[in-house]
Amino acid sequence: MDLRDLYRDVIVDHNRSPRNFGRIDPPVQQAEGFNPLCGDKLHIYLRLEGNVISDVSFEGSGCAISVASASLMTEAVKGKTETDALAIFDRIHGMLTGSREADDDLAALGKLAALAGVREFPTRVKCATLCWHTMKSALADSGTVTTE
Ligand code: ZN
Repeated sequence: MDLRDLYRDVIVDHNRSPRNFGRIDPPVQQAEGFNPLCGDKLHIYLRLEGNVISDVSFEGSGCAISVASASLMTEAVKGKTETDALAIFDRIHGMLTGSREADDDLAALGKLAALAGVREFPTRVKCATLCWHTMKSALADSGTVTTE
C-alpha cells in the first residue's frame, strides 16, 4: 500500500501549506516536542483567554505527517476550550494508538480523520501524535516532551 494513497488530499495539503505556522505574540504558553525516532521537532505556542484557546501556532521541522498533523491540530483546537481541546486529544490519541474503536467516530472528526491512515504504519504513529502531546504540554505550560 502506498502512503500517498492514504494521505494525499489532506495530509499533502497541510504539509505543503501548514496552517498557523509561526510564532504568536507573547504572552503565550508553549512547549517543545521531539520525536527522536524520526527527527521531528515542533514548538507549539498557544494563548489562553480564560479557558479558551484564543490563538495557537507551531514552528518546527519534521516529516510530512508530523507537520500536517500539527497544522490540523492547530485548526482543530483554535477557539476551543481547554476541556474540549483535551477531549480532541483523547480521541485522536485513542484513534492512533488503537486504545478505542474509533472508526464510527471518523465522520465526526472531519479533516482529522485523515490521520487515521497513519495507524497502518506503526512507526509513523509517533510522528502524528507528537504535536498533540506537545499541545497538551503547552496547555500546562510545562516544557519539553519527547515521544521516547
Ligand atoms: Zn516523523
